Amino acid sequence: MQALEYKIQQEGIVKDAHVLKVDSFLNHQMDVLFIDQMGAEFKRLFQDRPINKILTIEASGIGIAAITGLHFQCPVVFAKKSASRNLDADIYTTNVHSFTHDRDYQVMVSKRYLSPDDHVLIIDDFMANGCAVEGLIELVEKAGATIEGIGIVVEKGFQDGGKRLRERGYHVESLAIIEAMDPASGKITFRKQ
Ligand code: 5GP
Repeated sequence: MQALEYKIQQEGIVKDAHVLKVDSFLNHQMDVLFIDQMGAEFKRLFQDRPINKILTIEASGIGIAAITGLHFQCPVVFAKKSASRNLDADIYTTNVHSFTHDRDYQVMVSKRYLSPDDHVLIIDDFMANGCAVEGLIELVEKAGATIEGIGIVVEKGFQDGGKRLRERGYHVESLAIIEAMDPASGKITFRKQ
């Protein structure tokens, strides 16, 4: 999505060799008109799929997932992070390693909001090593629901999450894929899609 690449070039900050900050429009302040355009693009990319639910993970996926839900006219569920081990029988749980905080935590979704009838589009803001999305996949599988696709705003192509998930056969669409970024110069190079 060219408008996104342009916006990242203008407003993105390469924090270090592995972390890009897009706080001005996605992760702190939210440019809702622009996020709406990204939601429309996800709708275009997955329009042939019978999606009736969107799943993301708190907190930074919620904004883009909610607006994408407007385009699909379907409910949006976010997996909640919980510090303690939750043994409630009414929830699906899994463990996820956080890229940004470098720690493991448990995530959960209530059984009320994910069922075998669901055809799920997984949405997240960033893809690095793929742990967050793999955790969401596990929750969908535990619920017996179907994964129709995975939509990511920014994939860092120099980390292997996207590659691994495509190799597993998932339909992954990233609105921008970063090939390389240099913290010294701030230069960001995108993969041609
Ligand atoms: P993964 O699980 O794929 O390794 O990392 C994805 C998760 O970590 C996303 O949910 C996102 O919140 C966070 N993340 C990974 N890389 C970045 C990054 O470069 N910038 C920001 N802002 N978040 C990131």
